[in-house]
Formats: sequence, C-alpha cells, structure tokens
Amino acid sequence: MINENIKRRGLMLILSSPSGTGKTAIAHQILEKDNNFFLSVSVTTRAPRPGEVDGKDYYFVERKKYDEMVAKGELLEHAEFCGNCYGTPKKPVLDALEKGKDVLFDIEWQGARQIAKAAREDLVSISILPPSVNELKNRLINRGQDSTEVIEKRMKTAVDEASHYSEYDYVVINKDLDETVDAVKCILSAERLKRERQVGLSDFVKECFCETK
Ligand code: 5GP
Repeated sequence: MINENIKRRGLMLILSSPSGTGKTAIAHQILEKDNNFFLSVSVTTRAPRPGEVDGKDYYFVERKKYDEMVAKGELLEHAEFCGNCYGTPKKPVLDALEKGKDVLFDIEWQGARQIAKAAREDLVSISILPPSVNELKNRLINRGQDSTEVIEKRMKTAVDEASHYSEYDYVVINKDLDETVDAVKCILSAERLKRERQVGLSDFVKECFCETK
C-alpha cells in the first residue's frame, strides 16, 4: 500500500538478466498493472527480430546515428552487447522522473553500473537469474528467435551477466513467472515507501500532527 496523498520522488527500476530469463515478460506484467510507470525504450543497432516494432520494443538505428547520439550526450548510458550497441535515450527518462513517474529499464549490467554511478539514490536494481544453465539454454532454443550460433554466443554472455549479480540491490531466481512478478512487486512497494523517497512527509506530518496541537 502506497501513501498516495504524500508526494514521492520517482525511482528508476532496473531489471537485468541473461537473455531468455523472462525479464521482458516480467516487465510487461509489472507495467500492465501499474500506471505510474514509464518504460524506457532503448536505441539499438541490432536488427529487429520478427514481431518487434520500432519505437515500441526498441528504436532501431544505424551505427552512425547511434555514434552521433553518444557524441551529443543524448544517452543516459550505453553499452555493447553481443556485437550490437544499446543505449537509453536520456530526455524521455528525465521528463518522466520530473513528472513524478517511476521509470523501468530492461538493460544489462554495464548500463546498470553506469546508472548506479550517476544516480545511486534513485536506483533500485534487480538481477533476475534463471534456475539453471540448462533451463536457460532450453528457453533460448524454444523461443525460436535466434540461430544456433547466436544462442551459443548468448549463453556465453549469460554467464558473464549472471556473474555480476553482486552489483544489484536484489536477486530473484525466476522459477515461476507469477512468483517472480510478485517478488518484484514486493520490492517495488517497499522501495516506494522508503522514507527518503517520500519527499512530502514533513509537510504531511506538520499538517497532521503539529497543527492539531
Ligand atoms: P536483446 O538484443 O535480447 O533485446 O537485448 C540484449 C541485452 O541488451 C539484454 O540484456 C537487454 O537487457 C540489454 N539492453 C537493452 N537495451 C539496453 C540499453 O539501452 N542499455 C544497455 N546497457 N543494455 C540494454
């Protein structure tokens, strides 16, 4: 339960996980039931997968455009992953935070590290891990989006991603999607109630308790 009548500072929620751990499904479930969230849509130089929509899943850009965005400081963070470049457009995130929205990021560990450096106090980071390496490989094969070669590459990167678990505030093992979504919601509820995020607390306490003395 959130104290809805008390002004609160927005937070930045980062979900990171090896590809195929279910992070995108988790993010969608969180967004579906929570209208205080803004989803950060990244730019990437990777080619769209079947079904992916420009502007919804990613902004798909050429390398030249990506380099320009980096040079102009238009990205909050950026990183190379599996031979492609990814980055978070800064302006939409800052605009959302200014409006009191929370922002959800689906990014990998290098990006999480950069945001932690820039805005530690506004960040809540969660590493989602698969129950086992075999399970992860099966999920990547079953989702049928990548070639065998890409899957092998992603498995190697998965081990690297998982090895950074200790840099995150929370770690959730995704054995069951519903349980994982519940765990993320619990983390979110507690983090939103943190005293330092409830910037309207002193006014509330003054109004409620001091003025009735
Ligand atoms: P995919 O190509 O499977 O969509 O994403 C590959 C990885 O890049 C995932 O771990 C995803 O979270 C990460 N990623 C997506 N967007 C960004 C971004 O803007 N910045 C960073 N650092 N990682 C991203």
